Amino acid sequence: MEFRDLKKQYQVLKKEMEAAIQAVCASGAFISGPAVQAFEDALADYVDVRHCVSCANGTDALTLAFMAWDIGPGDAVFVPDFTFFASGETVAFACAEPVFVDVCEDTFTMDPQALRQAIKATLQEGRVKPRVVMPVDMFGLPADYPSIRAICEEYGLLMLEDGAQGMGGEINGKHAPSFGDLSTVSFFPAKPLGCYGDGGAIFSNDEGMAALLRSLCVHGKGSHKYDNARIGINSRLDTIQAAILSVKLSVFEKELISIRKIASWYDELLIIPEVSRPIIPKGYESGYAQYTIRTCDEKMRNRLISAFQKKEIPYGIYYPIPMHMQKSFATMPCSKAHCPTTENLCKTVISLPIHPYMKEEEVEMISKTIKEEGSL
Ligand SMILES: *Cc1c(COP(=O)(O)O)cnc(C)c1O
Repeated sequence: MEFRDLKKQYQVLKKEMEAAIQAVCASGAFISGPAVQAFEDALADYVDVRHCVSCANGTDALTLAFMAWDIGPGDAVFVPDFTFFASGETVAFACAEPVFVDVCEDTFTMDPQALRQAIKATLQEGRVKPRVVMPVDMFGLPADYPSIRAICEEYGLLMLEDGAQGMGGEINGKHAPSFGDLSTVSFFPAKPLGCYGDGGAIFSNDEGMAALLRSLCVHGKGSHKYDNARIGINSRLDTIQAAILSVKLSVFEKELISIRKIASWYDELLIIPEVSRPIIPKGYESGYAQYTIRTCDEKMRNRLISAFQKKEIPYGIYYPIPMHMQKSFATMPCSKAHCPTTENLCKTVISLPIHPYMKEEEVEMISKTIKEEGSL
């Protein structure tokens, strides 16, 4: 059994995939070119944002956003405590200060109430200036953007959507990642829209911003590559990856329907008091980057891990350590964050295998194993 079956997906798409890769090889253009442009246009169209600027990975996408907004020393960026390291890392990398905010118990995304408190506390302390809020579309579910947007407007803050896991998410029919002033995505192979290596992109509705981002990801280029108007980085999506992504994007909606069906099987089979299933708020849809359940306590999670290992069921623990407890932040003020929900989630969550090619028997077998361990 596979956690996310990329081999099966390749078998299904093999013919188109090989033709797409060969066309790039035959063209001799391996960086930029029409295949990258075509993919950016198709993805901007799908997400329904005016501009998509591709780059080398989802981490660079966040860094490029901070560069474009000139975020740096003395600036505070509000990041959920429960997320992948890159969300907080890129803030510190920009020499700004991450402020970790607790998440909601049921959705695992940034808690608007906790955000408001963190902004107030930061303003009161007066050491760093609130500038950006970075909600994360955790496990494929968009954060509470309506509430968070209102708070950003109230305090005059920019919103950066870390949509690395967000493809396939929706709020009232509007696709993620399109909710931020800038929104980002990752094409890491196991993400909902993954390539065959590293890749990422940034979304914006502003033409000037898109042009600035395009400059920043090619050494701050000006009118041409050897006219350097500003300090940038080298962060581009390979042409082969763009061609691969175009093939994957063409089946994305179809795969999304399948993955939501698999999630609904888990939902039906896992109605037991010892486990909470993912909550999808009214009007929201998840892309199920992960199907993550929460056990009643750490002991039950340990029992589940042993049972999974015995039966060779793959699983993931996303994430085992709250951001504020990461060693890398130990000497920074952000290590003092108070995030009890995240601390508890890190001890009780476990992600189950999910992908569009999963069989009903597999979902049944996994659910049965969970039920057996729950009733012990
Ligand atoms: C994967 C991920 C990233 C980083 O993306 P890469 O393409 O691996 O650099 C950032 N934020 C979150 C929430 C992620 O899940």
